Amino acid sequence: MGEQGAAKGGRDGGRAVSRRTLIIGGVASAVGVGVLARSDLAHMWWQVPGVDKPREAGAVDYRGAEWVAAAAANWRRADRPADYTIDRVIVHVTQGSYQGTLKVFKDPWHGAAAHYVVRQDGHIAQMIRELDVAFHAGNREFNERSVGIEHEGFVDRPEDFTDAMYAASARLTAAICRRYGFPADREHVIGHVEVPGTDHTDPGPLWNWDKYMRLVKAAYEKAGAAKA
Ligand SMILES: [Zn+2]
Repeated sequence: MGEQGAAKGGRDGGRAVSRRTLIIGGVASAVGVGVLARSDLAHMWWQVPGVDKPREAGAVDYRGAEWVAAAAANWRRADRPADYTIDRVIVHVTQGSYQGTLKVFKDPWHGAAAHYVVRQDGHIAQMIRELDVAFHAGNREFNERSVGIEHEGFVDRPEDFTDAMYAASARLTAAICRRYGFPADREHVIGHVEVPGTDHTDPGPLWNWDKYMRLVKAAYEKAGAAKA
């Protein structure tokens, strides 16, 4: 992405910079930075909302996830984290099968979908890019600030929440916390039921939060160690 940004700056040079200067002007004065050097602008252009990041068809944000596109009506194009800060993971339970969930998220009349769906064997489908706002929380602000993860099963059947599913989901959640720089704790990893104003109860009282957060924190620490 950096290279492409540099190439772009070189190609359409001054004009592109002046257009970005206009957009960034507001940001600069708002944070009291004053006048930004052009080299700073070159570093910042990708943070400006509305400057599209390159999108590759079929690309996923989490290695190993399988791309299965949700219907475009079930999400909104955005440029996160440039336009909205991502600081929540929202845990859902599908109240249905993995295949059934993929099917409704592909249905434009459904009106909702999450970024990820985790199958009971640990397989993960990504259906919406993390850049984009998925309609999963039933609360606009929480949709804009979160990544939504669905889990195959029913809230009243704890046997649906397999070890493989907990482990795979925990690694995914930890990776999201690391990527956007927010803590892997229960303030930032929440259930759908905890979203203000929702009438949904998932993942339900039988979701094992202690076990899940232990796995999330372990994966989070491991990811941090690997980075350092
Ligand atoms: Zn839900």
